[in-house]
Amino acid sequence: MHDVLPSDMHLWHKLESTVRDVFAGYGFSEIRVPIVEKTELFARAIGDATDVVEKEMYTFEDRNGDLLSLRPEGTAGVVRAVLQNGLLYAAPVRLWYMGPMFRRERPQKGRTRQFHQVGAEVFGAAGPDADAELLVMCQRIWRQLGLHDLRLEVNSLGTSDERANYRENLHAFLTVRKDRLDDDSVRRLERNPLRILDSKNPSVQAILEDAPVLNDYLGDESRRQFSGFQRLLDGFGVAYTVNPRLVRGLDYYSHTVFEWMTDNLGAQGTVCAGGRYDGLVEIQGGKPWPGVGFAMGQERLVELMRSQAEPDGAAPHVYLVMAGEGTVAGGLQLAEKLRKEVEGIRVQSNLGGGSFKSQFKRADRSGAPLALVLGEDELSQGQVTIKHLRSDSGQEMVALEDLQIWFRNYLCVLN
Ligand code: ATP
Ligand code: MG
Repeated sequence: MHDVLPSDMHLWHKLESTVRDVFAGYGFSEIRVPIVEKTELFARAIGDATDVVEKEMYTFEDRNGDLLSLRPEGTAGVVRAVLQNGLLYAAPVRLWYMGPMFRRERPQKGRTRQFHQVGAEVFGAAGPDADAELLVMCQRIWRQLGLHDLRLEVNSLGTSDERANYRENLHAFLTVRKDRLDDDSVRRLERNPLRILDSKNPSVQAILEDAPVLNDYLGDESRRQFSGFQRLLDGFGVAYTVNPRLVRGLDYYSHTVFEWMTDNLGAQGTVCAGGRYDGLVEIQGGKPWPGVGFAMGQERLVELMRSQAEPDGAAPHVYLVMAGEGTVAGGLQLAEKLRKEVEGIRVQSNLGGGSFKSQFKRADRSGAPLALVLGEDELSQGQVTIKHLRSDSGQEMVALEDLQIWFRNYLCVLN
């Protein structure tokens, strides 16, 4: 479980404000659900035979003996909240959420035990239009974050009957080759053989090369849905490839599944995954409402932003250097005046004194492109010096009464 440090905060903020704006642009409302729920909720919604429920959840008994878990994902809690609060009366309902999730996995690059997801869910829309719109929305988010080299893979899992038929055939195929499977896959073979398709082990993947393919087991209606979905993506100009081996680790998916991935993050390259889960609301005790959604991994996106997007947009514009005891009160007041009069300006005042040299060192470290220098003599003449720290523009003297205009112009040019 990691700390998010101040040096990364601008990336987190940018990600969070971008998704907030984009979701609003598609008519999605935010929902916030608890971090702790009854274990049973996750077991039922996610499925007993999944890694998440079998071995990854942080589960504990509270003082009453109730079995509770830290949420490993967002969808189960959102479905519970939607049912409990009767939100489906206005279906289709478009919701998004953001927050920490917990899974006790083996920690590695791109995989932590507390991580954060941004997710979106649409309930009560059966057609592939909702699926396709979710993906255009993702693409818009990537664009606004300045991310590139993300590719989309899609597949259809069909209906649960079609999957049951396929499962039988896949099970037969793999049982014959059981001695060549790894331990994880052998364990999955009886409980949930489809999950073997998800294996990251290259030797298991090699065996799967000749395995039956789910697409061959889809009925007419599922095929029609899948090709309708692809036509919509084509129309939106969203590029994708069909990956017939793409399945989701979680059990409640049907029809459309998808993943956005990148080669720039090493082995954990999936930044967003989702699909349709038409059975889920019913499993949780509601009517059979269709549902579709996705979850993005915020840590992985932040990592990608760090390598691909613009540098720090949250550094101060100006660092206030104050030379001499007598300038401190006036300097701090001047900074306050600028914040009030120049909209959006970020001023960082030097605190705790220090020599000229050490103040400029701090100015440099702050990332500010400008230093505003106050000396006792200058101040008495109503003048300050503005020094450009990151260009060859040198420095200039500005009258105190012109300062506000100077900075307004400066910010105008920046934007
Ligand atoms: P994987 O097969 O990689 O374990 P998953 O199927 O468990 O993925 P989802 O449950 O679909 O992943 O989660 C959606 C996204 O959340 C992932 O694509 C990833 O970006 C992020 N994510 C999931 N687990 C973690 C984790 N332990 N640490 C960081 N990010 C994670
Ligand atoms: Mg996982």
